[in-house]
Amino acid sequence: MKMIKVINPETKVKQQERLDLLIARRLKKAIGNIAPDRLNEICQAYHENRLLILPVPIGEKVYIPGSFEETDGSEVFCIDEAHLSGYINENGREFYTTYDESCGTMDVEKNVLCITREEAEKKLEGLKNRKCRVCGCTQDHACPGGCYWVEDDLCSKCAGTEQIQEIAEG
Ligand SMILES: [Zn+2]
Ligand SMILES: [Zn+2]
Repeated sequence: MKMIKVINPETKVKQQERLDLLIARRLKKAIGNIAPDRLNEICQAYHENRLLILPVPIGEKVYIPGSFEETDGSEVFCIDEAHLSGYINENGREFYTTYDESCGTMDVEKNVLCITREEAEKKLEGLKNRKCRVCGCTQDHACPGGCYWVEDDLCSKCAGTEQIQEIAEG
């Protein structure tokens, strides 16, 4: 299936500005102060997909908020601790791989991985109430064939369709 993706140029600029801020903050944390020119170069490389920044170095501990179903059907929410082991870009779907002794290797969507426990706890609260803003699917009731969250309130099946709709209507 071919997905048509239309991005409003204004939205794209805003997304880039947000990304630049995120990169600047991460770099500052990792290597201290950085010259503005160098920062621009790094951001540029990132936009051109020449640079990959992992949230923490490989092997560091990460936190994964999530839920699983008990044998009686009830849903239990928890935060898994694991170690970051890699990054994969599979036809544009980006996710991290993690490793821990009890669960082995896991795939973790980019927006699910947390680098602190506090961040994971906050996300877990959101998870308990999340719902796709387009189709209304939830953590318990995914779209037919399955879907995953691309934003806190947008599922993979609906990603892209929303922008096309906005343009068609507007
Ligand atoms: Zn949806
Ligand atoms: Zn869905």
